[in-house]
Amino acid sequence: METRFEMAVIGTGMAGLAAALFAARQGVAAAVVGSSAEIIFASGFFDVLGVHPIEQRRIRINPWKGIEALVRDNPKHPYAKISQKNIAESLETVIAFLQKTGLSYCRRSNRNAMAVTPAGTLKPTYAMPRSMWNGVLAWEEKAPCLIVGLEGLKGFSARMIAENLRQKWPGLRPVKVSFPDSGPGAELFAERLARRLESSSIRKSFAAAVRRRLGAARAVGMPAVFGLYRPEEVFADLQARIGVPIFEIPTMPPSIPGLRIKDAFLRELPKLGVRVFAEKKVLAARHEPGRGFVLDIGAEAAEAVVCSDAVILASGRFLGRGLRAERTRIIEAVFDLPVYQVSDRASWHREELLDARGHPIHRAGVEIDDWFRPLAGSGRPAYDRLFAAGSILAHQDWMREKCGSGLAVASAQAAVNAYLNLKKSPAQ
Ligand SMILES: Cc1cc2nc3c(=O)[nH]c(=O)nc-3n(C[C@H](O)[C@H](O)[C@H](O)COP(=O)(O)OP(=O)(O)OC[C@H]3O[C@@H](n4cnc5c(N)ncnc54)[C@H](O)[C@@H]3O)c2cc1C
Repeated sequence: METRFEMAVIGTGMAGLAAALFAARQGVAAAVVGSSAEIIFASGFFDVLGVHPIEQRRIRINPWKGIEALVRDNPKHPYAKISQKNIAESLETVIAFLQKTGLSYCRRSNRNAMAVTPAGTLKPTYAMPRSMWNGVLAWEEKAPCLIVGLEGLKGFSARMIAENLRQKWPGLRPVKVSFPDSGPGAELFAERLARRLESSSIRKSFAAAVRRRLGAARAVGMPAVFGLYRPEEVFADLQARIGVPIFEIPTMPPSIPGLRIKDAFLRELPKLGVRVFAEKKVLAARHEPGRGFVLDIGAEAAEAVVCSDAVILASGRFLGRGLRAERTRIIEAVFDLPVYQVSDRASWHREELLDARGHPIHRAGVEIDDWFRPLAGSGRPAYDRLFAAGSILAHQDWMREKCGSGLAVASAQAAVNAYLNLKKSPAQ
C-alpha cells in the first residue's frame, strides 16, 4: 500500500513526536514512524541547559544565560542555529499540548529548578511534571521529608537517596512500605504499580500505609508510579489522603513519566491529522525524481510505502538506533549520511568512564546547515528537503550538558520551520 504525505517524520522519540506536532499545527499533512526508544527511559524532565562548561561541571541556574555561553564556546552546537525566543516558544507549545492531554508541567521561565534523582543527587532542569514539583519546594525549604521505597521494587532505594543527600538535606527520612495486596517477597514493576494506583481502593490502602509512617514529615517523596493514564487524578487523590505535599522521584527504566509523554502524543497526534505508524521502522529509504522520498515501512518486512516531499530524520543516536557503531566507524542507519566522528575507534572513549569532559563518541552525529539539513560529504545539503532534529545532531552532548528534551523539541520546531520557509522561497 502506498500513501503520499507532504512530510514523513522518522522517529517517535521526543524529537520526532514534537516534529509531528509542529507540522500538524502548521497544516502539513504528516506521517510519523518509529518505535519506543529513549523516551521510555526519560525521567519526564524537560532539560534545556543545565551544565556548561561540562569539564567544570558548572551548574547553570539560568538556562538562557547558559545557552549564551554554550554557543559562544561551541558555535557548532545545534543551539547556535536557533534563537532563544524560538527555543522558549517551542517548549511552551509542547508543554501546553501536554497540559491539554492531562499532563501538567511546572517551571520558572528564567530559572532551572533542582530535582531529586533516583541516585540521590540533585539535577538542574527547566520543567518537570506537576507531580514532581513539590520535591523542588521541599528541597528549597530543606523541609523534613519522608522518602518512601516499596518492598519488592528494584532500582529505587529510599535509603540511598536519603544517604546521598544527607549532607545537603539532613531532614530526609527513608522508609520502606509494602504495596497493598502484594505478597511478601513479590517483585514489583513500575508499570504495574502505576496501573494499580489508578484504582481508588488501592490508593486508599497505600495512602493509609504511608500516613502511618509520616511522623513530622512535611512532604513525601515516592517512586514515579502515580498512574499511567490519569496521573493528575492519582496525584491529587493520594496527596489529599496523605495530607501533606507529595512528589514523584523518577525510577529506573521503564520510566512511567516517559511512557505518559509517549502515550499522550500517540493518542492525540491522530486527532490532529497525523498518521502514526507506531512500533514500525523505515526499512529502506530512497529519493526518486517525481516521487520524492520513498520509505518502505514495516516491523520486519515492508508493510507499507510512504512517499513524501520532505523528511525529518529524528532517529536518535545509539539507543534510538539512528546511529550504529561498526568496527571502525559510526554510520547513520537510514540514509547512510556522513557522520561527524573522531576518526579512530581508540579515541571514541576516554580512559576514565566518568571523565568530566565526556567521551568524543557522545558528540558524534549528522552535521547540518542553517536550515537543519544534513550535509553530504561535499558540505552541501545531502537532499533539498531532508531535515534532522534531536539527539542525532552532531556537536552536542545532551547527557552531560543536560539539554536532552529541550534540544529535541527546539530542533524539531526549527526543522519544520525550515521546511516551511524553503517551501515559500525554494532558492536556498
Ligand atoms: C536514561 C535516559 C534519561 C533521560 N533523562 C532525561 C531528562 O532527565 N531530561 C531530558 O531533557 N531528557 C532526558 N533524556 C533524553 C531524552 O529522552 C532524549 O534526549 C530525547 O528523547 C532525544 O530524543 P530523540 O527523539 O532525538 O531520540 P530517541 O528518543 O532516541 O528517538 C529515536 C526514534 O527514532 C526511531 N528510529 C530509529 N531508527 C528508525 C528507523 N529506521 N525507522 C523508524 N524509526 C526509527 C526510534 O524507534 C525512536 O522512536 C533521557 C534519556 C535517557 C536515555
